[in-house]
Amino acid sequence: MKNEKELERVKNKELLRSMYVLAFTTLAFYISLLLLAVLTLEKGVLLGTIICVSTMVTVGVFFYALKLEVAAGYYECRNCHNRFTASYKKVLFAPHMHTTRHLRCPECNKKTWAKKVLTK
Ligand SMILES: [Zn+2]
Repeated sequence: MKNEKELERVKNKELLRSMYVLAFTTLAFYISLLLLAVLTLEKGVLLGTIICVSTMVTVGVFFYALKLEVAAGYYECRNCHNRFTASYKKVLFAPHMHTTRHLRCPECNKKTWAKKVLTK
């Protein structure tokens, strides 16, 4: 039983780490590419295409990174300490600070700043 919980914790920690690595790497490439393009290219179709495509790819990667956050662990209600999962859509539209999100707890029905936790 204790071993199962430890396995779950390690798995969820790895998911969150993957999410952070993916998001920060993508952001670093995006900023670098934009700076390089804006500083070296003339205004025109090529510059416009680079900005549009790199922005779309970055946004796409961030939507995927959010999937990793949703899949990793649970959110803990500040009011009743119930640990729950939330749908991708609810997490997407919830205000957040890092992985702490303003979500409604299914147990006490209150909206709190639910912290991400790795185990049930
Ligand atoms: Zn609650």
